[in-house]
Amino acid sequence: MKLAGYRSNGQQLVGVVVGDGAELVPLAAAWRGDGAAPADLTAFIERGPSAARSVVTDGVPRIRLSEVTLTAPIPRPRRNVFCIGRNYAEHAAEFAKSGYDATSGPTATPEAAVLFTKPPSSVIGHGDVIDPHPGVTSELDYEAELGVILGRGGRGIRRSEAMAHVWGYTIINDVTARDLQKRHKQWFLGKGLDTFCPMGPWAVSADEVGTAPLEVVCTVNGEERQRASTKDLIFDIPSIIETLSAGITLEPGDIIATGTPKGVGIGFDPPKFLRSGDTVEITITHLGRLKNRVGGER
Ligand code: MG
Repeated sequence: MKLAGYRSNGQQLVGVVVGDGAELVPLAAAWRGDGAAPADLTAFIERGPSAARSVVTDGVPRIRLSEVTLTAPIPRPRRNVFCIGRNYAEHAAEFAKSGYDATSGPTATPEAAVLFTKPPSSVIGHGDVIDPHPGVTSELDYEAELGVILGRGGRGIRRSEAMAHVWGYTIINDVTARDLQKRHKQWFLGKGLDTFCPMGPWAVSADEVGTAPLEVVCTVNGEERQRASTKDLIFDIPSIIETLSAGITLEPGDIIATGTPKGVGIGFDPPKFLRSGDTVEITITHLGRLKNRVGGER
């Protein structure tokens, strides 16, 4: 099942994406479960596996996606988006070589997962504009990433059980101000600015995605910059969930950005930073295409 967040007549709503991604059915119209339909994706996830069985889209009037404004599938997460840094070996190497990594030790490849977060206020949807924050940063960069959405929460989740806690997936662009990331050493500021977490175009449940590795592709103005497989994650999804949940109780609707592969702007010499007017597009197998323009004119 694909679930999208969207705005219509000033209301924030959830829709079931149908018709090869061209149409949606409002969740409220497709809901056959007890009580009112869940008001947002997090509430839907909290209903557990029975929620998906309560949705019937056959025979329900459809709306063309082009007639609504998509938002992130979870437009305002309840808490920060958990993120993994330096989680592909080739990206860890390009980052170390770039001179922007203020955190790496003797080896580029981390021995334990590198963790940081992005605040809920940084989240925007497909088609929204990335604020280039002139005067705050002059070194804007992109990072294409697989986003994991937690279904069942818990603490002390072992890796052997971790995939049963995954509800589904989405695409995340871990937009980064490299100058802030370097200057402040901790990554929160450089990765937490408003609009720095494009997410979407929708969320796809795990049963539709399967367990095979996914291909992550990122282009800037149509020029391919990143192409990788999630099989090359240093710390895989079960390992990330085990590490995070060892001492933090994970909750339904929590989001984890799993790290970016090589090919970010600072991986090039000279660096290819984003400029106003640039368009970043990320596609991941089964998850669609997340497209965002950097604000301003080129
Ligand atoms: Mg990242």
